[in-house]
Amino acid sequence: MPPFEVPEGDPFGPHNLPYGVFSRAGSPERTVGVRLGDHVLDAGAAARALGSPYAGLLAQPSLNPLLAAGRTAWTDVRRALTEWVTVPSHREAVAPFLHPLPSVTLHLPFEVADYVDFYSSENHARNVGRIFRPDAADSLTPNWKHLPIGYHGRSGTVVVSDTDVVRPSGQRKAPTDPAPVFGPSVRLDIEAEVGFVVGVPSRMGQPVALGDFREHVFGLCLLNDWSARDIQAWEYVPLGPFLGKSFATSVSAWITPLDALEHARVAPPERTHPPLPYLDDSAAEPGGYDLRISVAINGHVVSEPPFSTMYWTAAQQLAHLTVNGASLRTGDLYGSGTVSGPAERERGSLLELTWNGRDPLELPDGKRTFLEDGDVVTLSAWAPGADGARVGLGEVTGRIVSG
Ligand code: CA
Repeated sequence: MPPFEVPEGDPFGPHNLPYGVFSRAGSPERTVGVRLGDHVLDAGAAARALGSPYAGLLAQPSLNPLLAAGRTAWTDVRRALTEWVTVPSHREAVAPFLHPLPSVTLHLPFEVADYVDFYSSENHARNVGRIFRPDAADSLTPNWKHLPIGYHGRSGTVVVSDTDVVRPSGQRKAPTDPAPVFGPSVRLDIEAEVGFVVGVPSRMGQPVALGDFREHVFGLCLLNDWSARDIQAWEYVPLGPFLGKSFATSVSAWITPLDALEHARVAPPERTHPPLPYLDDSAAEPGGYDLRISVAINGHVVSEPPFSTMYWTAAQQLAHLTVNGASLRTGDLYGSGTVSGPAERERGSLLELTWNGRDPLELPDGKRTFLEDGDVVTLSAWAPGADGARVGLGEVTGRIVSG
């Protein structure tokens, strides 16, 4: 079968066309690729062969030049790519630049600038509150319904899917321990999230308005915010997450452009507290995305978190993270926060799925509270497309190795 003929129902058909960066066997050269079914199109080489004006944006070792080019260019490039893989008269010219996915190596698709992680699932925040503050009158902190809580993470340890994750060591101290001890984390966890990739920068001192989200954000990916709960619990007061999170954050190799997700836009949950004007999206276009996430440990699905349940939207998160005048850079990445739905099997962390280890998961290879060395965690997702089609998100997977 020619590579253009993507099977009916393939979530990576020409309606999707996510972007990545790849190299071919025997060559160190990295270049932008676009996924079509189980092939990758060398987008820059195809653009050159077709005399496209976008060759300069696509024949690049990272997505950053395309990210910086802005909304009009993103839409034009996507339109051109769609033509190249769907219009029969282009096939002969484009075919030499389609490579089977197993024959290429996928790389981190963009140079990560700043990395921010939010905490925007009400179900997740309430679960964490119930676990760690069982005596509190409200499982949410007083600020939660008024602003999207976040923290700055470590961009230099963002890694692409398939990168092994070394079990971190650090200090931990249970409340009953007389003194802290040092050693490998014994409560290593996942956080199933969606990451948003900023393309167009903003000027320092100038907040980005809620309505300008799509002018700045290029697309999204799946993100696993690996978390060492024991290190985190001992270090986080009063300044928040530090070494319990900064050892690794995994992202999928494919960045799905927002333009591929038009049919997945949904209204966020009802706002129970009126947001301040800069966060008020009551009159805005639907800011949520209907992404159906799946979490698997060693191939066994343990949870299916629904992204549509997120209380704060990506547009609100962007407005909030710039409201003080902090500027955006091309390649900024911000995580949604752990995605947890209302049902038990919709929780996006082992902390919640096992209720802090109280209720172990039963896997085919034994019980799990937190991750063991050798465990492979895979997040995958799809979104509704036009006419019943599915838009696949690139999976993010990682294996735990001993430190
Ligand atoms: Ca997180």
